[in-house]
Amino acid sequence: MCHDTTKLLLGIADENLKITDGETGEDGVIRLTGHLDYTPKACPKCGIINDQKIINYGWRNTTIRFSKVLSNTVILALKRRYFHCKECHGNFLAQTVAVPKHCTISNTSRKECLEKLGEPVSLKHIANEVSASDSFVGRQLMRAERDFQTNWHYLPEIILMDEVKSTKSATGAMSFEFMNGETHELIDLLPYRTINKLEKYFYRFDQAARENVKIIVTDMNYTYPKLVQTVFPNAMVVMDKFHIINALNRAFNKTRIKVMKKFTPSSREFHALKRYWKLLLVPTEQLNFEQFKK
Ligand SMILES: [Zn+2]
Repeated sequence: MCHDTTKLLLGIADENLKITDGETGEDGVIRLTGHLDYTPKACPKCGIINDQKIINYGWRNTTIRFSKVLSNTVILALKRRYFHCKECHGNFLAQTVAVPKHCTISNTSRKECLEKLGEPVSLKHIANEVSASDSFVGRQLMRAERDFQTNWHYLPEIILMDEVKSTKSATGAMSFEFMNGETHELIDLLPYRTINKLEKYFYRFDQAARENVKIIVTDMNYTYPKLVQTVFPNAMVVMDKFHIINALNRAFNKTRIKVMKKFTPSSREFHALKRYWKLLLVPTEQLNFEQFKK
């Protein structure tokens, strides 16, 4: 096996790292062995230039996990040179660009993990693909999140506001989301939805940005229209017709059940109200009074 090709496939661009052997175990795991050795330019602990000051101090066994190759987990058992500094008497380990310090999951896995986080798949699925734990993928997501800063200087003219069911980490049972009404792009997702917190959040936007908002589309929630009086002075609230129809349907169904319960369960009326509830939702002009179809 040409081991430089292995490095190429695993995305290892470190001349000091040599892969010497590799085999696929009975468990389907590809186990590679290699070593990492070089002459340090300086001591990372005290900063002294290596002028015969740093000596080799044995080896340490470490592992690096890579993303799956042809559905096989790849683990590199890497022997690393250990060094001793005669100046500060500190010891340190050889480092490589293939993996961050004190970590076992390769940088290529991290990159792949971030790319996959853009796809609509579960954290568990990604964790399996890159041979890492769920919590590792979660941490990568949190780190990436910090790079997505809110632009406090702009808000679109039309905003859609709604609620979504929260994750475990959110404080409330429901989270608040809002998006651009024209492009349907998500602007932000907040782990709360109380009026005080929302006001505080929206006040962080420039006044010009808030004044730019002309229409807020929302459900029949009583909280969001209050925002119009305070943070969005030029906006009007439009209720999404989906939510109105939904509310009407629910109210109608409640009434139907109330009427139904006035009859005994064995009666014809009870049965009709229970079995043919869909017919009651059909507009009169669409009903067929002559023929009965199931
Ligand atoms: Zn030193």
